[in-house]
Amino acid sequence: MDLNLTADELQFRDELRSWLACNVPTDWNEWREKPIEESFPYLRAWQRKLQEGRWAAVSWPKEYAGRSATLMQQALFWEEMARVEAPPMANSLGLGLIGPTIIAYGTEAQKQRYIPKILSAEEIWCQGFSEPNAGSDLAGLQTQAVLHGEHYLVNGQKVWTSYGWVGDWCELVVRTDAAAAKHKGLTVLLVDMKSPGVEVRPLRQMTGESEFNELFFRDVRVPAENVLGKVNDGWNVAMSTLMYERGSYGARLHLIFKRYITRLIELARNIQHNGRPAAQDPIIRQKLAQCSAEIEIMRFNQMRAFSRLTATGVPGPEGSIQKIFWSELNQRLQQIAQEILGPYGQLLAGDSRAMDNGMWSYAYLRTRGNTIEAGTSEVQRNIIGHFVLGLPRSY
Ligand SMILES: Cc1cc2nc3c(=O)[nH]c(=O)nc-3n(C[C@H](O)[C@H](O)[C@H](O)COP(=O)(O)OP(=O)(O)OC[C@H]3O[C@@H](n4cnc5c(N)ncnc54)[C@H](O)[C@@H]3O)c2cc1C
Repeated sequence: MDLNLTADELQFRDELRSWLACNVPTDWNEWREKPIEESFPYLRAWQRKLQEGRWAAVSWPKEYAGRSATLMQQALFWEEMARVEAPPMANSLGLGLIGPTIIAYGTEAQKQRYIPKILSAEEIWCQGFSEPNAGSDLAGLQTQAVLHGEHYLVNGQKVWTSYGWVGDWCELVVRTDAAAAKHKGLTVLLVDMKSPGVEVRPLRQMTGESEFNELFFRDVRVPAENVLGKVNDGWNVAMSTLMYERGSYGARLHLIFKRYITRLIELARNIQHNGRPAAQDPIIRQKLAQCSAEIEIMRFNQMRAFSRLTATGVPGPEGSIQKIFWSELNQRLQQIAQEILGPYGQLLAGDSRAMDNGMWSYAYLRTRGNTIEAGTSEVQRNIIGHFVLGLPRSY
C-alpha cells in the first residue's frame, strides 16, 4: 500500500491543523486529572466547539454534518488531535458508535430527532448491552420488552454501562421474543434515561472513578417508534455498533502511545536504578525498544486494515486484530512504566511526589479494563480463529 498522503488528504490535514491551532483549549492540563464528573461540562463545551467547526464527527456523511471523511482522513484526524493534546469529546459513545448505528438503521424521523443533539453534546448516550449473565455471550441477555399497544414495557438489568451516570439516552438491547433462538429474539430500543422506572447506580472502579454503572429497568415505558432497525433484528443492529467500537478506536491511539513511550525513555534516562540510569539496565532497554517497535507495528496494522477496508468496502476481522493488539500493548507499556518508576509509579494525582501528576498510576489501573471492554481478548481470538483461520467455532 502507498503510505504517502494524497493532495486531498494533505488539504484535509492542513485545514484541520489550522483550525486546531486557533481553537484547541490551552488549559486542558489543568482539567485532565480532575474527576470526570467535574470536567464533563468542559468536555461538552469542547465538543460543541468542534461541532461548530464541523470537526465533531468527520466520518459521518456530509448530510449529517460530518465530512464523509475517508478512513485515511479519519486516521489523520485522530493523529492531529493527539498531536496537539486535544481533550476528548464528551459524547464519545454517541459520536463513535451509536450515532453511526442510528445513521445506518434509523428512520428519517429518528435521524432528525437524535443526530443533531449527539453532535452538539446536548444529549449524551450510553450503551446498554452487557448484563450480569450476558457479556461475552451477549445473545444470552434477559432484559425483556413486551409490547402493550403503542409502548414496550421494559424490565431487567444492565451492568458496566459507561456514561450511564450522565446518559440522557441509551441504546438498549432487549429480548422481544423469548421463544425464538437466542440471537433472533432481540431488538434495539432507544430509551430516554429520564423515563420513570430507570434507576442508575454507580460502580466504583479500581481507579477510584465511577465511569460505569448498573442500570435497572422496572416497567419502563418506551414508545414503539423508538425501535432502532427491525423488531427481532436487534442482533445485527448491536453487532454493527460493536464493529464501530472495535474498528475505530485503535486509530486514535498511536500518537498517545508514542507520547507515553517518548516520556518513558526520557524518564528512564533520569531515574536511577541500582546507582545508574534505568536506561542503562539491559532489560529495561530491551523492553522499551520492543514496545517502541510494537507501537509502529500498530500503526502499520491500522493502515493495512484501512487500506483493505477502502478497497473492499467490507469490514473484516481487522477490528478484532487491532483490539487485541492495542489493549495488550497498552498493558505492557504501563507495566514497563511501573518498572521504571518503582514505588513512585503508584502515587496518585494530587500527591506532590507523583510523577506527571499521578498519570502513570491511573493509566496502569485503567488499562486492566482494556482487554475486557469492547469484547475480551479471548473472544477476539475466537473471532480471528474462526473468521480468519477457519477454525471451528469455540461455542
Ligand atoms: C471499562 C469497561 C467499560 C465497559 N463499558 C460497557 C458499556 O458501556 N456498555 C456495556 O454494555 N458493556 C460495557 N462493558 C462490559 C464489557 O463489554 C464486558 O465486560 C465484556 O463483554 C465481558 O463480559 P463479562 O464481563 O460478562 O465477562 P464474561 O463474558 O463472563 O467472561 C468471563 C471470562 O470468560 C472468558 N470467556 C467468555 N466466553 C468465552 C469463550 N467463548 N471463549 C473463551 N473465553 C471466554 C472471557 O474472556 C473472560 O475472561 C465495559 C467493560 C469495561 C471493563
